[in-house]
Amino acid sequence: MHVGGLVIAICGLVISLSAPVFGQRAADTSLGAQDARADDPIKVLVGRLELERYKAAIKGLTQFGDRQQGTDRNRAAVDWIETQLRSSGCTNTQRIKYVYDQPGQPFQQAASPAPASAVASGEIRSGLGGSRLRGIARPPDANNNPDAQSDPKLRALNAQPPAPGPREEVYCTKVGTTHPNEMYIVGAHLDGRGFGEAADDDGSGTALVMELARIFSGPDVQTERSVRFALWNNEETGLNGSRAYVEQRAPLQGREDPPGSGRYPEPKWLAMIQHDMMLWDHGMPRPDGTVSPEQRPEADINIEFQSTAKFADQAMKLAFLFRDANEKYATDYPAAVGHHMTNTDSSAFTDLVPAISLRENERGMQIGAGWNPHYHQPTDRFSAYSDKDFRLGLNAVQTSLAAIAHLSGVNLKK
Ligand SMILES: [Zn+2]
Repeated sequence: MHVGGLVIAICGLVISLSAPVFGQRAADTSLGAQDARADDPIKVLVGRLELERYKAAIKGLTQFGDRQQGTDRNRAAVDWIETQLRSSGCTNTQRIKYVYDQPGQPFQQAASPAPASAVASGEIRSGLGGSRLRGIARPPDANNNPDAQSDPKLRALNAQPPAPGPREEVYCTKVGTTHPNEMYIVGAHLDGRGFGEAADDDGSGTALVMELARIFSGPDVQTERSVRFALWNNEETGLNGSRAYVEQRAPLQGREDPPGSGRYPEPKWLAMIQHDMMLWDHGMPRPDGTVSPEQRPEADINIEFQSTAKFADQAMKLAFLFRDANEKYATDYPAAVGHHMTNTDSSAFTDLVPAISLRENERGMQIGAGWNPHYHQPTDRFSAYSDKDFRLGLNAVQTSLAAIAHLSGVNLKK
């Protein structure tokens, strides 16, 4: 009872404060309060998303195997993503270049690891990001053994080990009509690990960002503020690609270049929204360490902010705005908000701007307790997911599309 009252109070606060905090039109404070009207431009844009297109974008990424950083398959994936962005209308692509000179993840020479065993404990254990682990957990260990891939074709595709050296990542930008000097950053990481296809981690988030770039680049779509679509590299080695972006681009924010041109190569950052693993929910592992192979009807999208971040309050309001967008525009699955965001590229932005992440499960409490048996495993393949899983991901695409459209001030040219 008292918990429910608290939630309602928090939601009311969020709705009343979201507009001024994120620079929105002051009158538009009702994102979550009413159903969308048929002529609502956000509803029109969400209607342009299709399950099959989202699946096709994930499938396209899996042709580059696990896209591990520092390999030819990773570089080929960056090139392919840039081609896709340009052909979908987001033509002003740019690259961030940096050097990652650490050796790659060590390859284990051992044979396939033993199956993870379940741990059931009455104790509450602390997890990543300030989270608490309860109940049954599986160790979420990564596979570092290339020979653990049972498919010989995929094993060959993933055979090249990473080498230290120069790295690249790509982004493109929707330029705002009235505030081209301010932008929202929408991100996901293109690199993966585990010697599978990195279909969920993070083909599913990368495909989400590519779909948003396509929809926002439609010839009739205008936004008041700019939106940048960024596909980070080197997330799996410690957020090195997003940190390189922050290091290189943060000092350039809001500068008109050349002066008087009306062009802003690095608009002022308003918020950063990361997407990392969108397909799996399936619930807590069973006592024997297995996980339900079927999507559960109670599945949800997990929107997280970090309560210890410098911009925690604004990030919390942003997270609830995304939940409001989910309630109003997503077709199948709800969203929940948590305050332990961790271990993804939004962490590189938390001291500079409100930052949130969207995921299939909470990173600390659920992914960290082994809820996803494909996490960093050779089995993270397109074929491992059902349409119900892909639909959970599509609901995250709908949620982010609607929230970003609202925040950026979208309208459709007649
Ligand atoms: Zn990831």
